[in-house]
Amino acid sequence: MSEHIEPLRGMNDVLPDEAPWWNRLESVTREVFSTYGYREIRVPLLERTQLFKRAIGEHTDIVEKEMFSFEDRDGQSLALRPEATASIVRAAISNGLLHNQKHRLFTIGPMFRGERPQKGRYRQFYQVDAEAFGYSGPEVDAELILMTARMWQLLGISRVRLEINSLGTAEARARYRDLLREYFRGHYSQLDADSQRRLEGNPLRILDSKNADMAQLIAAAPLLTDHLDDESTAHFERLKKLLESGGVAYTVNPRLVRGLDYYSRTVFEWVTDALGSQNAVCSGGRYDGLVTQLGGEATPAIGWAMGMERVILLMQELGCQVPVEQPDVYVVMAGESALARGLQLAESIRTAAPGLKIETDLGGGSFKAQFKRADKSGAHVAVVLGDDEVARGEASVKPLRGGEQTTVSFDALAAHLVAMISK
Ligand code: ATP
Ligand code: MG
Repeated sequence: MSEHIEPLRGMNDVLPDEAPWWNRLESVTREVFSTYGYREIRVPLLERTQLFKRAIGEHTDIVEKEMFSFEDRDGQSLALRPEATASIVRAAISNGLLHNQKHRLFTIGPMFRGERPQKGRYRQFYQVDAEAFGYSGPEVDAELILMTARMWQLLGISRVRLEINSLGTAEARARYRDLLREYFRGHYSQLDADSQRRLEGNPLRILDSKNADMAQLIAAAPLLTDHLDDESTAHFERLKKLLESGGVAYTVNPRLVRGLDYYSRTVFEWVTDALGSQNAVCSGGRYDGLVTQLGGEATPAIGWAMGMERVILLMQELGCQVPVEQPDVYVVMAGESALARGLQLAESIRTAAPGLKIETDLGGGSFKAQFKRADKSGAHVAVVLGDDEVARGEASVKPLRGGEQTTVSFDALAAHLVAMISK
């Protein structure tokens, strides 16, 4: 036997037992999107590396050390997408979606980041992602957040908490960046190596540091909220009112800066205390400057991304239930003619009773072995076919959860099964 091939670190297989959780999350989010007028967009997994460098920022963790990028045969630098926003903005620009238009969009799919794998942190992970283009007011910020609150509710998720902050306009942020740089320069020796490196390029990222030794220094740093421009302050105040009237509780976290460079004004994060240090389950914010930064016409925009693995872990942690897929009918058959007739019969039942779930035992073996599999499948009813039954044009029908076995003619079988299942 040859050696088997190891899976890649941080890349998971979703096995059939896990799939119902994924389906549940996906169907609930899709349903909510459709009730808010969000339409699906699907974008490639691969883009030019330059797109992410320009959108996410050169001094971010993602671009500095997490991107899966490589040269293709023509020497172009390509990257597996680490997030969806940059790709969706690129798609909106390349397809002319932004000229005098508004769009509410969503996408669901895998993202790739070369991080250290641990519970809730993987190298291929999935996001549900929402983006709204063309809306400048705080109402859409509120709506995007209300939409996530509704998703939690429908999924049965509690133990999530909303944190919000405002990063102001690009100009206000630039002024604050200078102020912060000055502050941290004054305490240069207390900064760790990562933060010293970030000091010139992107001092805001220092606020995001998880190094406990720097916590005090960071706590005493000037606050962005004290240096906002008036319009951003008004936008933020209005958002808070809208959240209050929408019944969504929040806390203002003035240290919430987010790891990507493109945000302006509103940023938010849903966090949980149930998943250890991977505590963010959904994060987002406004990025009014990104579209022009990527060569499109000025378009206000805001979005969020939800980490699907983390939400599923949370649902499991909280004891949520998902329906398990089980067949309604299990067809047991033994004998040459029964096998061929059974396959045909299953087809005709599927045609006559659309939606009825029929699993055929194609594994062979004795009736006894097949009945064991029938029981294990969770089906309500077994249809039993031997060569004798085929010769008589009828099947034995055996309820698997108590009840008498009967004999039913092939012609009447579909209707009979439907009646039994719907009882
Ligand atoms: P974190 O601070 O946990 O690294 P982030 O700020 O990098 O998160 P975003 O880029 O905003 O996360 O992505 C949005 C969401 O995607 C996060 O809130 C999280 O739920 C999820 N996510 C991000 N990175 C990973 C990963 N490597 N594995 C699994 N989920 C992830
Ligand atoms: Mg991260």
